[in-house]
Amino acid sequence: MRNKSISTKRPKNLKTALPGLARIFQRFWPLIQKERFLLIVSFIGLLIEIAAQLLEPWPLKFIFDHIILPDASVSNLNSPILNGLNPMVLLTLLTLAIVAATGLRAVAAYFSLVGMSLAASRIVTELRANLYTHLQRLSLSFHNQAKTGDLITRVTYDTDRLREVTVTAALPLVVNTLTLIGMVGVMFWLNGELALIAIAVFPLFVFSSIQITKRIRGISRQHRQREGAMAATAAEAMGAIKVVQALSLEAMLETMFSTHNQKSLEEGVQAQQLSARLQRTVELLVAVATALVLWRGVQLVVQKTVTPGDLLVFITYLKTAFKPTRQLAKYLGQIAKAIASGERIIELLDTIPDIRDLRGAIEAPTFQGAIEFKNVTFAYEDKTILNSINFEVKPGQRVALVGPSGGGKSTLVSLLLRFYDPLEGQILIDGHDLREYKLESLRRQISIVLQDSILFAASIRDNIAYGSLGATQEEIETAARLANAHDFIIDLPQGYDTILGEGGATLSGGQRQRIAIARAAIRKAAIVILDEPTVGLDNENERTVSEALERLTQNSTTFLITHDLRTAQSADQIFYIEKGRILECGTHPELMNLNSRYATLYRLQSTINSNNSTAIDSYAITA
Ligand code: ADP
Repeated sequence: MRNKSISTKRPKNLKTALPGLARIFQRFWPLIQKERFLLIVSFIGLLIEIAAQLLEPWPLKFIFDHIILPDASVSNLNSPILNGLNPMVLLTLLTLAIVAATGLRAVAAYFSLVGMSLAASRIVTELRANLYTHLQRLSLSFHNQAKTGDLITRVTYDTDRLREVTVTAALPLVVNTLTLIGMVGVMFWLNGELALIAIAVFPLFVFSSIQITKRIRGISRQHRQREGAMAATAAEAMGAIKVVQALSLEAMLETMFSTHNQKSLEEGVQAQQLSARLQRTVELLVAVATALVLWRGVQLVVQKTVTPGDLLVFITYLKTAFKPTRQLAKYLGQIAKAIASGERIIELLDTIPDIRDLRGAIEAPTFQGAIEFKNVTFAYEDKTILNSINFEVKPGQRVALVGPSGGGKSTLVSLLLRFYDPLEGQILIDGHDLREYKLESLRRQISIVLQDSILFAASIRDNIAYGSLGATQEEIETAARLANAHDFIIDLPQGYDTILGEGGATLSGGQRQRIAIARAAIRKAAIVILDEPTVGLDNENERTVSEALERLTQNSTTFLITHDLRTAQSADQIFYIEKGRILECGTHPELMNLNSRYATLYRLQSTINSNNSTAIDSYAITA
């Protein structure tokens, strides 16, 4: 699947979900296979557990038939070996057998549960790591469309649900089903008629539990969606808390949140009521089955067709077999949900990154920095953003991209980083299409500084080193000096070890920019992209940042997106971009001579500039 966004579909019930189960097994088979030893051992433990469970009432049966009521028993059903033993010895052996059977079952159940849990945890841990890696490789066009909250849910919640349901539902379901089959088999072996009576209420049980579970599932699904919406509202508000507070949106968002919260409560309660009703229904049906078996069973005991001990086995089996089956519907519901989770994970894993290394892609050589756009056309979805862009830039040249907002400047440079591929045309670096190169080796040779550079909640040292992983302290300091950042960094109490707030929130805009420049500088890249790096800075900060940028770009081919035409003046080439086209192209004197859009804008800015220098940016942004 190569789609830009992923759906949030969920299978409706187990029947429609079942093909999904097969797909999940198939898809995760390599991971499951790695744990096969543990899984096989756990399965053997599970079989022992079931056998012990089937054996549990038998010592009691023998005690009844051979010690307490030997006369009431049918002689031909009695074992001659047991009859030959001294009753006291037999009693001691049988009481010991009761403990032994329970002990064996406990030990086997413990090992099968621990084994399965361990295997499931290991499988899910690896799956989660794969998923995370995959997610980071998906292209920007995917991430632009996908909801971050939804993706995080898939990596954390959905994977964990697979693990949890394997242990809390799938494992007990297998144990209970096999136990049930075993018990029905033993019951038929003891007495067919009584066995038929015992299982007569079973269809009724299946019918009622399916009905109720269906309703529970419907409500649970709504409940989950509601919780998702609630998490999304909260995440969005927290992520944009500055804007929320500035616009005084708190009350509005609180109302939205509490409506969801209240509905979520109601749905939760409703689901619990239904599940309580299901439990009571099953208990009643067990009572009916027990009554029927007793009614007919006692008659058969009197007729000496079955022994009192046999009847005891029947009653015990009925109780033990039906008790877990009460959970059957719940398990099936949980499994259906887990299948939905599995499908959501597979859907994500199957999303092929739009942008990835082409077959035969090679490691990019060290770039000289010559760049050529040949007839490049690009569209986000259906909206054409760039139209037949053609230009050539020589190594080390500085290019300024100017023009009104929304013209396509940022999009143009993002093609250079291969965040997206052009719809038509070619982008060449040093004469080679950039798709020939491995993505990582291409991006490693391009530095970028954005208007609001994003820093990570890590130390300043790490933030700079992220530009070139494995950089030494000396390289980090050199980069910081180049970026005019060293002095302010060592003035901080913790210096380079200062841990930044999320997004670098603990620094001023100018300081953030200078760290971002250091991060860009440490790459020593042949190509540098600056996307309005000084917008929003005061004069003093603008001066230090510009100085740092000057040094950063000294030996590199540079693309500077700017609204301030003063900073564009010295560029070797200026592209005036509007509505996805380069309308004017040349040096500052050439464009002034042309006396068209650029010249008009320049003169306008100069006038405003001489009146009020700080108005330039606000004018340019709306120009
Ligand atoms: P500029 O940098 O010149 O201001 P951009 O390249 O940022 O222009 O944007 C060009 C156009 O592309 C704008 O109309 C913008 O709305 C649109 N655009 C930008 N990013 C996306 C995106 N991820 N998805 C869809 N449209 C986008």
